Amino acid sequence: MYKKSAIEIRDLFLEKKISAIEITKYFLNRIEKYDKDLNCYINVLKDRAFKKANELDQKLKENKFVGKLASIPIAIKDNMHILDEITTCGSKFLTNYKAVFNSTLVDLLEEQGAIIIGKTNLDEFAMGSSCEDSSFFPTKNPWNLKCVSGGSSGGSAASVAARLTPIGFGSDTGGSVRQPAAFCSTVGYKPTYGRVSRYGLVAFGSSFDQIGPIATNSKDIALIMEVIGKHCPKDSTSLKLPLETYLDNMPTSFENIKIGIPYHFLEQLKPQVRKNFDDAINILTQKKVQIIDVDLDILKYCLAVYYIIATAEASTNLARFDGIRYGKRSKEAKTLNEIYELSREEGFGEEVKRRIMLGTYVLSSGYLDAYYKKAQKVRTLTIKAFEKAFDNCDFVAMPTVPSSCFEIGSIKDPIEMYLQDLFTVPANIAAIPAITVPSGFDKDQKPLGFQMFAPALDDVKLVQYASLVEETFKLTQKIPPLFDKE
Ligand code: GLN
Repeated sequence: MYKKSAIEIRDLFLEKKISAIEITKYFLNRIEKYDKDLNCYINVLKDRAFKKANELDQKLKENKFVGKLASIPIAIKDNMHILDEITTCGSKFLTNYKAVFNSTLVDLLEEQGAIIIGKTNLDEFAMGSSCEDSSFFPTKNPWNLKCVSGGSSGGSAASVAARLTPIGFGSDTGGSVRQPAAFCSTVGYKPTYGRVSRYGLVAFGSSFDQIGPIATNSKDIALIMEVIGKHCPKDSTSLKLPLETYLDNMPTSFENIKIGIPYHFLEQLKPQVRKNFDDAINILTQKKVQIIDVDLDILKYCLAVYYIIATAEASTNLARFDGIRYGKRSKEAKTLNEIYELSREEGFGEEVKRRIMLGTYVLSSGYLDAYYKKAQKVRTLTIKAFEKAFDNCDFVAMPTVPSSCFEIGSIKDPIEMYLQDLFTVPANIAAIPAITVPSGFDKDQKPLGFQMFAPALDDVKLVQYASLVEETFKLTQKIPPLFDKE
């Protein structure tokens, strides 16, 4: 069953060829067998999963509504709340923090019959590109156990790649869905900002944060979006738009489709990444996709813009972790100030502290204009540059990552780690949708990804054509050899 897509698993259930309990047991067994090699899960929610599975079997027997996602096992990144379950955010600060409400995401998934199977590992508070900055353990890459899974949603990406679940969820502030998805040879999708409710997602960079699914194929992503792309009154940034259908009228050819490539920005690509990207473009050209060069030179400023705005927003969002309201309180603290200082000192890891310091610095009175406000201006210019580019093409394409997955412990310099996000942050800055599909492997058999961006609100078209791109590449269904067995 591990080779099946989420849609196929659901259909087997609906045809009564397999029960929800059997599906749940099967995937929980895979987690038990393989997760010790990978460390994808911070918490496996056995009881919750079986309770839901029982309910589904009962409902199907009685011919009651079971939902669009009936019996599909789903993993949730551990920075989204599930009522009465622990939300750690990958941090020592919240090791024992029990959520007091459900995120809208979880509500929507469960309403439609999904089985939430566990909470997955992440870099602390979703800050990172490797999953090494989790307070608990790094998640390993199923394609190469010496390497990182990517971050920050590495737990979900590795879990899907190793087929421990057909679907995983991540949050994407600067690439945290797409980068690990590419490192693990899966499909990762960041919707238009505001398309998916963030109610119950612990905030990192609020003007960038967006929840997104990771799957083995784009059709599963399409199915998921039909459920979660819904207006939510509890999230003030949620767009007031009706649900859309993704799986109807899927395109079957690339007729009249134009893809823009910012060739100038891609000049410095590493040879292997360049070759992989050029090969992908050649395949698409043979299928009659028209390729044009687009001027997106502004992209060279995106990393700086991202790390100014994201750290500024993070420094204010994380102020709520004061040792009083949530999670950890230092046992050493004797005064109010010590409660703040020592709880934060003991509870936060190095990278989170670095971000808070950077963020408060760029917001401080002497530097606000020089850094934060200037970054906001460049953000506006980036939005405009994308709009102009999309006047001449349907999608913009770039590699997802500047290099394939690297060895655990090999990147020590934080700036080098930030460079991982070079090709993913532009979508967050411009608030547009972006998707990565597997584009093959480098010479060391490490996966790479092909990324497509679309204009804001063109989510349906993007996911649909990503599915066609994926079929054209014929690569998505590859499974890491170590986990390609029962
Ligand atoms: N790697 C980026 C960062 O560390 C993106 C993180 C994310 O998207 N959550 O900020």
